Amino acid sequence: MGVSACLMGERCRYDGKSKANPAVQAFLKDHDCILVCPECEGGLSCPRVPCELKNGRVIGRDGMDYTVAYERGAQRCLEKVKDCDLVILQPRSPSCGATQVHDGSFSGELVPGQGIFAARLKESNIPVLEADAF
Ligand code: SF4
Repeated sequence: MGVSACLMGERCRYDGKSKANPAVQAFLKDHDCILVCPECEGGLSCPRVPCELKNGRVIGRDGMDYTVAYERGAQRCLEKVKDCDLVILQPRSPSCGATQVHDGSFSGELVPGQGIFAARLKESNIPVLEADAF
């Protein structure tokens, strides 16, 4: 199975912290896992500028367009998990969110949508589950 690395305790989030999720970790305890962080894989630093999706682009709080790095990381991570029968994803992330993302205003508002990596997984017919389901 594949899993967003931050759920497993890796401190790979934009703020340098993890989203360690004990329920996900317990579920995966006896499975072979491939940990992926599309944003790190795309070459972004940690910590890094927070980004949100807006009009199909990935825009940082600094106003810069980070779409290329996000796409690159998503593609690299897709290669790593392409044989997985399930990928467990961190919700609401502009990379890993599978059902909701922030609305691009950096106000905390959420809208229906999916992150760049989650979209690649769905296009490739790889089943995904968000960590909120655990
Ligand atoms: Fe976690 Fe995904 Fe964000 Fe990496 S890109 S920190 S794996 S939510």
